[in-house]
Order: sequence, then C-alpha cells, then structure tokens
Amino acid sequence: MLESFVCNLCPHRCNVDRLSGKRGYCRAALPEIASFCIHSGEEPPISGKNGSGTLFFSHCTLSCKFCQNYPISQYGVGKEVSIKGLGEMMFVLQKKGAHNINLVTADHYIPWVIEAVKYAKSNGLSIPILLNTSSFLNIETINSLEGIVDIFLADFKYFDESTAAFLCGVSSYPHYAKQAILRMYELVGAADADDTIITKGLIIRHLVMPGFLEQSYKILGWIYETFGVSVPVSIMGQYFPAYKAVEISKINRKLNHNEYLGVIQKATEFGFSGWIQNENCDINDKRKIL
Ligand code: SF4
Repeated sequence: MLESFVCNLCPHRCNVDRLSGKRGYCRAALPEIASFCIHSGEEPPISGKNGSGTLFFSHCTLSCKFCQNYPISQYGVGKEVSIKGLGEMMFVLQKKGAHNINLVTADHYIPWVIEAVKYAKSNGLSIPILLNTSSFLNIETINSLEGIVDIFLADFKYFDESTAAFLCGVSSYPHYAKQAILRMYELVGAADADDTIITKGLIIRHLVMPGFLEQSYKILGWIYETFGVSVPVSIMGQYFPAYKAVEISKINRKLNHNEYLGVIQKATEFGFSGWIQNENCDINDKRKIL
C-alpha cells in the first residue's frame, strides 16, 4: 500500500502528494469508480456482440466546458476502490463475456490500473486491456503501460492552443496530445479496422464540435501527415451542449448534419479507415467509414 504519491502523471505536473490530503488539477487521490458495466456503444470491433467491459473512473485532467460526463469528470462522483477491487471488477466483466476491459478515462490513475491489471492477469484475466484516454499524458506515463495496455482509444480533441484554452482550459493540450499519440503508436502500432474484434493497436477518436470545424480538418490533416491512413479514425458527431456549454452561445447547439458530413467527406478524401455515426449521430450507432 502506497503511503505517498507525488503526482506528475500528466503534463500538469502538479508535483503534489495526492495521498497527503493535497490535490492537483484533476482533484484525484486514490482511484474512484463511478460505475462499471458492459457497454455496447463503442466502435463495432470494440463492443462486438457481447459488449466492452467498461470501468468509468472519476475526475479528469481536463476541464472541457461541454463534458457530457461532467458529474463524474468534474464533480468527482464515484467511490474509492482498491487495486484488488479494480481487478475483481475486471473479472466480473470478463465473466459476463466482455471482449475487452475498457478504462474510461483512467489517465490520472495509471499506476493503480497497472497493479490492478497485473493482479487480474495473474488470476486469469485474459481479454485485452483498452485505455480510453484524453491523450493528455506524459511520455513516461505512457511508457509505463508497455505490455499492460493492448489497445489505445485515444482522443485528439483540439488542434489549436487557443481553442484548447477556450474549450478545456489547457492551452498545451495539442502539443502533448500529439506527442502522446505518437508514443502510443510506437507501443502498439495501428489497429486494424477490418478486424471483427480488435485486440491490439491505436485508434484515434475525434468529436466534431459546432463552431470549431477547422479543428476537425486540421486534426485529420495532422493524422494523415503523421501516419498516412494506417491508423483508423473514429469521427463522432454526437455532440450536444452539456455542463457549461449551455451558457456559451458558440457551442450551445447540436452539430448541424452538413457540418458533420463535411468532416466525413474530408476523411473519405484522405482515404481513412474507421467509423462514423448515422445521420442522427446516435451514440450507439457507429459504422464503418467505407
Ligand atoms: S494526474 Fe492529476 S494530480 Fe497528477 S499531475 Fe495530472 S492533474 Fe496533477
């Protein structure tokens, strides 16, 4: 059992001892879980027929103004859980038939997650481990996941510093997200979008925002320049105003269908593989780009 944990897991590098009663930017101390369940709304080769075994972690290293999970990410709704408790949850999900263990968003609990996975694997956990990440992570934190995480489902949220500062309060997000995504690719390579069930590799996820379409185009351009079309992309159009977004006129609306179609069109011009949503942008309907 750790007695102190001076935290520099993410680029905030708060350097505070989270176990001494102090808190960093994310407000996290020991791992807290809001819920764990079988989730069928991920990309088809992640959810598969049986679903993805998902653990929803409390707190977050970003403060996105529109966060749809804000009670969990910003207000910290959840209950503290031990390493063994985390491992037991993974067993329950495996027993229910989950195709993978999906850690949403566990970035600020990585050392505990590693121990929980080791405990679970030494006791029979055999399904792949997926990190559902905001990509705001330090390289050394990602390095510690080598041999632990099989699939990185990595957000790339904002391309410009000014947009990142406006939408999530962290102007350095694009810089660190690019570094992190590159390192994840080096560790696990690209996922194969044609797999029935994905067991390894990187997928880049992007939520298209009303009023910020240029961010989507720039992000697709960067992915293409960096990886060609080898890394599958998941382009989500499910945005709706939540949390502080309801008071911000630029993002206090759903995405217009033509806006979403324009971004999809660009992705198909590049020749990406991956997933998009249906015309109603149903959260539970993600389908292949081509
Ligand atoms: S994980 Fe939390 S406490 Fe640690 S450096 Fe990041 S924001 Fe600070």
